[in-house]
Amino acid sequence: MQQLTIQDPDITKLIGAELNRQRQGLEMIPSENFTSLAVMEALGSVLTNKYSEGYPGKRYYGGNEFIDQIEELCRTRAKKLFGVEHANVQPYSGSPANQAVYFALLEPGDMVLGMALAQGGHLTHGYKLNFSGRFYRSVSYGVEKENERLDYDVVREIAKKEKPKLIVCGATAYPRVIDFAAFRSIADEVGAYLLADISHITGLVLSGDHQSPVPYADIVTTTTHKTLRGPRGAMILVPHSADRLHDRYHQSTKRDLAGLVDAAIIPGLQGGPHNHQTAAIGVSLKEAAEPSFADYGHQIVKNAKALAESLTEAGLTLVTGGTDNHLLLVNLGNTKLSGKVAETLLDEVGITVNKNMIPFDPRKPMDPSGIRLGTPALTTRGFTEDDMRIVGKTIAAMLQCPDDESVKAEARKTIRSLTEAHPLYPEL
Ligand SMILES: *Cc1c(COP(=O)(O)O)cnc(C)c1O
Repeated sequence: MQQLTIQDPDITKLIGAELNRQRQGLEMIPSENFTSLAVMEALGSVLTNKYSEGYPGKRYYGGNEFIDQIEELCRTRAKKLFGVEHANVQPYSGSPANQAVYFALLEPGDMVLGMALAQGGHLTHGYKLNFSGRFYRSVSYGVEKENERLDYDVVREIAKKEKPKLIVCGATAYPRVIDFAAFRSIADEVGAYLLADISHITGLVLSGDHQSPVPYADIVTTTTHKTLRGPRGAMILVPHSADRLHDRYHQSTKRDLAGLVDAAIIPGLQGGPHNHQTAAIGVSLKEAAEPSFADYGHQIVKNAKALAESLTEAGLTLVTGGTDNHLLLVNLGNTKLSGKVAETLLDEVGITVNKNMIPFDPRKPMDPSGIRLGTPALTTRGFTEDDMRIVGKTIAAMLQCPDDESVKAEARKTIRSLTEAHPLYPEL
């Protein structure tokens, strides 16, 4: 960062401090990851200078010869990798991508059925203060009290009663697999569109560690910066041709889903695409097509299971008793800590997690009863099961003896040795 160092020492210093924080800590927020340097080079390129409202071959600005090729390459890679007929790679991030799907399929006031925020869903799945709950009528499904898992018969009953026009499946804090086939059959039964928002698990879908929604959903959205390990951004994938939809919904006029999605992004919601982001997404899709990406996906799940085991052995309670994917939720009920206190405590020694509601949480969202932990970022650093067991023991000791300075000192030592054994961005 030669120029930046000369021109803006303040920002340079803060970026350096953030790099050190990332290097010296254990990043365990399940929605975070470390991109490759190649992804960051594409992000930091001259592509940020260019305006290109529209789509390849149909722009409102001149000079897009190379931008067109970049976006086309990115779209082609996405279509091939996910096995879908259409991909829109322009959404600025995950929330705008979902907004575009609502805009494409619904009229204001139409009904949406999504997973409740307090039970693992996302803000954009119908939360009352979000656009999705303000411009649309939203109803929600959640997990069952006895096993903290989705019960598809219950979801079906809610759908039959409420008759939503769109059903959203996918989650931000659900440690178990999602049965997209079951959601498809529910959507068919009530004549609803099915949106699968796989933001959190895209990397696992690509590695074969989670069922793919592509055969089942009408539209798939995903962020690109979580398990996919690309830059911040999102994609909207349209699996199937308009004809199949035409049959399914008995539409009198044929709805071209791909066209509706593209029109929802621009002119519906966005102006110029972020071309540097598009190129970086393209780079991450190329990385995700390499065989080593599947190993990374398998390792994420193995690491999460090893972490779950060590936390459970140490006496902590996990929501649903464990995990099938990249994340787990600790129910702090049998410690003396709230989620907020636990987050701060772990932060003190360099373990970054986030406080999180647990299902049927008696506490408030800003200070809930749980924390959420994930393994994608540590897996990218090269952590394996043995490391995760050490991490699990360390976290458990911290949570169980929050006032013990010797436990904190020991935790700091452990974290130093783990992070030194798995250096982050050694080239920088
Ligand atoms: C992260 C996430 C989003 C939103 O992504 P942003 O890029 O933060 O807007 C949407 N849906 C789900 C399920 C997510 O996990």
